[in-house]
Amino acid sequence: TIAMLAIDQNGDISSGTSTNGLNHKIPGRVGDSPIVGAGSYAMNGVGAAASTGNGDIMMRFLPAFHAVMMMQVGMDPLNALTTAMRPITQYYPMFRGAMIAVNQNGDYAAVCHGMESFDFCVANPTNRNVQVLTAKCV
Ligand code: ASP
Repeated sequence: TIAMLAIDQNGDISSGTSTNGLNHKIPGRVGDSPIVGAGSYAMNGVGAAASTGNGDIMMRFLPAFHAVMMMQVGMDPLNALTTAMRPITQYYPMFRGAMIAVNQNGDYAAVCHGMESFDFCVANPTNRNVQVLTAKCV
């Protein structure tokens, strides 16, 4: 999945995803990417989150929605993502995937599981050059 989270000059927050789906998927499978709350979720005044990995698993947990709800009650993006990822990896220890989140202030984080690291990109008004950052997986 390619996921993007954006905050515009008015402070409006949005998210989007694009994917070719899982390998060997059944024709007609929808997957998690277009499911609001599973593939991504955004809420003005709070933040946004998005996920990549096995959508058949992630759809059961709505991790993007979960992460945004955690930010709504005051968690920073890293703790929100860690909290949203935890139930997935508890039920599916072999789960391989990653999540990104940003809050309304532009603070961001990424988490991943089942791989060594996860690369993600960041651009903001103070640094318009796109930075490629790496999250170490838990
Ligand atoms: N989440 C996608 C899916 O299950 C796969 C991916 O992350 O590329 O359809």
